[in-house]
Amino acid sequence: MRGPSRPPAERRILLETMGLVEFSRMAAPQAAASAPRPEPHEPRPAAVAVHTPIAAAASAEVVKASDLESLDAVHAAVRSCRACGLCDTRKQAVPGVGHAHAHWMVVGEGPGEQEDVQGEPFVGASGALLDAMLATLGLERNPGPPSRQVFIANAVKCRPPGNRTPSADELAACRPFLQQQLALVRPRMVLALGRVAAQSLLGSEAPVGRLRGKVHQLHDGTPVVVSYHPAYLLRQPWEKARAWEDLCLAASHLDSKGQP
Ligand code: SF4
Repeated sequence: MRGPSRPPAERRILLETMGLVEFSRMAAPQAAASAPRPEPHEPRPAAVAVHTPIAAAASAEVVKASDLESLDAVHAAVRSCRACGLCDTRKQAVPGVGHAHAHWMVVGEGPGEQEDVQGEPFVGASGALLDAMLATLGLERNPGPPSRQVFIANAVKCRPPGNRTPSADELAACRPFLQQQLALVRPRMVLALGRVAAQSLLGSEAPVGRLRGKVHQLHDGTPVVVSYHPAYLLRQPWEKARAWEDLCLAASHLDSKGQP
């Protein structure tokens, strides 16, 4: 296992970057007082729950993403897509970034204000926290070998106005692009960050609190671990301990399969 088996000093620095030392020193609010203390060396056993594949395209207007045979083609189609109303208010579409064959894939909800401007997912404060979280696993979004890189994408590729939650129709319209990104990258592990990403991938309406803590599977067997969105962790920093548990679970699952 990469991140959790790092030397203690290096891991401590990374956890401090995630804010976990701060977490351990702060008084947790009453609602979180019963939260289990993270056990980086003893992640919970993975309980596997098999889910149906993410739904097929719901809109006839959607480009046949499954016909697009490269990420470049998918991303070009995303940039010119007008399959849902989010195209009317976006500055630009945000297809995703990362190695075409990254071993890990991160899926978030949708672009926010800064992502809409910069054209890259997870920038700003939540992007910095995501990068710190990934660093605990030895992963980074900058160019490198696929075993160290992540592909980062969102459930919808265009910013919902005012950062509202994407509607079911918008998620359905955009899902073929996410499906094709998954089919082309073929990640060994998917981290679904936040309720919308988890529900879009798994077809479940359960909250994150009920979806996390186990390894789910897409129809092709790709494992999915659900955790909190970094933007949520910035608002509820005491939940970072649980996010750390989720990262340990994902890493230990791959470790158990003998996969880097
Ligand atoms: Fe197309 Fe997705 Fe953007 Fe909607 S959110 S316009 S489906 S790329």
